[in-house]
Amino acid sequence: MTVMNPAIAILGSTGSIGRATLDVLQALGPPFRVHGLSAHSRLSDLVQQARQFDPPIVVAADREMARQQAWDQLPKGTRLLRGPEGLVELASDPAVGTVVAAIVGRAGLESTLAALESGKRLALANKEALVVAGPLVADRLRSREQLLPVDSEHSAIHQCLLGDARSVARIILTASGGPFRTRTLAEMEAATVADALAHPTWQMGRKITIDSATMMNKALEVIEARWLFDLPPEQIEVVIHPQSIIHSMVEFVDGAVLAQLSPPDMRLPIQYALTSPGRMEGPAKRLDWKQAYDLRLEPVDRERFPALDLGYEVARVGGTAGAVLNAANEAAVDLYLAGKMRLTEIARACRAVLSTHQFDPNPTLTTLLACDGWARQEVNRWSAQCSKS
Ligand code: NAD
Ligand code: MG
Repeated sequence: MTVMNPAIAILGSTGSIGRATLDVLQALGPPFRVHGLSAHSRLSDLVQQARQFDPPIVVAADREMARQQAWDQLPKGTRLLRGPEGLVELASDPAVGTVVAAIVGRAGLESTLAALESGKRLALANKEALVVAGPLVADRLRSREQLLPVDSEHSAIHQCLLGDARSVARIILTASGGPFRTRTLAEMEAATVADALAHPTWQMGRKITIDSATMMNKALEVIEARWLFDLPPEQIEVVIHPQSIIHSMVEFVDGAVLAQLSPPDMRLPIQYALTSPGRMEGPAKRLDWKQAYDLRLEPVDRERFPALDLGYEVARVGGTAGAVLNAANEAAVDLYLAGKMRLTEIARACRAVLSTHQFDPNPTLTTLLACDGWARQEVNRWSAQCSKS
C-alpha cells in the first residue's frame, strides 16, 4: 500500500485514543512513523512514549505542568514545545502528513482547525471540535477525503457510504446504552461516579464514559454526523445495541440497510482512518465465526435519556448552540466527577443554559469561544443555585 505522507502527529497521545493509535502504528510499522506527540497532564507518560517512538517533536500542552516535569530523559533529537501554541505548531508542521486529533473536549479545537488549514489529513476523534464549530470545520475542508472520522459510529457510516452516498434514506447510529440501559430513573438519580464509570462494552477516558452514561455522547454524535455527512437531523436515527458490534448502519432509499461490524475495539476505526481508502492487517480484535453472538436492537427511552433530545435540537439550529451545549456539558461532567452534581442533573443543567443563551446563527470563532466561557459560568451558577434551594 502506498501512503502519501506517513508522518503522524498524535494530539492527546497519552489518552485512551492516543495510546490505541500508538498501538496501531507499532503494529503497522514502516512506512508509518510518529512525528509528534502531545499531552496535558501525564507528562511522565509522554516522556516514556517519546523514548519508545523517538518523535522529532513533543508538546506539553499546559505550561505550568511542563515546568514541573523533568525533561532530561527525552531523546536527544526530540524538540519540546509548550502550551496550546505548541499544539497548533505541531498540527501545522510541514513534515506532518496526518494529524490524529485525540484531545478531549473543546481544548482540541484550535489544533484541529490548524491541521485542516494547513492541508493535513485529519483523523478526528475529538468530536467536541465538530460540535462546537461544525460550520468552521466544514469551511476549512479542502475535500471530503481530508477528514476521516475515528468515532466508531461515524467510521462505520463512512465505510457504508463508500458505494453510494447519494441514495441515503437515513443513517442509524448505534448506542450501547451505557451502564444504566436497564436501570430505573430513581437508580440513575442515585448513581455514584463509580457506577457511571463502569461502561459495559468500551474502555475509554472519563469524560466520554460519563457522556455515555447520560447518552450525551450520542447527542454529540448526532451533531457530529450532521456536519460530517451533511444530513439534516430527520435523517439521523439512534438505536440501542448493547453488544457494540454493529457500529452503525446506513438505510438507502430502497430500504436496504448496510452495516459495519467488528468487536468493540477502537484500534480498527483508528487504523482505517490512517490507511483509508486502503486496508491493512492490524491488531484489532476480530469476530469469531465459531462463536454465537446476540445482536439486539431496541429503541432509546427518551424519558430516561433526555440528553439525546438536546443533540437533535442543536443539530437542527446550528449556530452558537453547539458551543453552548458542549461547554455546559463539559462543565457539568466536571462537577459530577467532583461529586458536586447528580448524574441526572447534567442534562437538566445543559437544557437550562441552552434555553437562556443569546443565539447567533453565523458565529465567528471568537463568538463561539465567548459562548463556551459563558456556558461554563452559567452551569456553575445553576449548580450553586440548586444546592442552595
Ligand atoms: P482521554 O481523557 O483518555 O485522553 C485525552 C487526551 O487529551 C490526553 O492525552 C490528555 O493529555 C489530552 N488533554 C486533556 N485535556 C487537554 C487540554 N486542556 N489541552 C491539551 N490536551 C489535553 O480521552 P479519550 O477517551 O482518549 O478521548 C479523546 C477524544 O476521542 C474525545 O473527544 C472523545 O470523545 C473521542 N473518542 C474517544 C473514544 C474512546 O474509545 N476513548 C471513542 C470515540 C471518540
Ligand atoms: Mg462513538
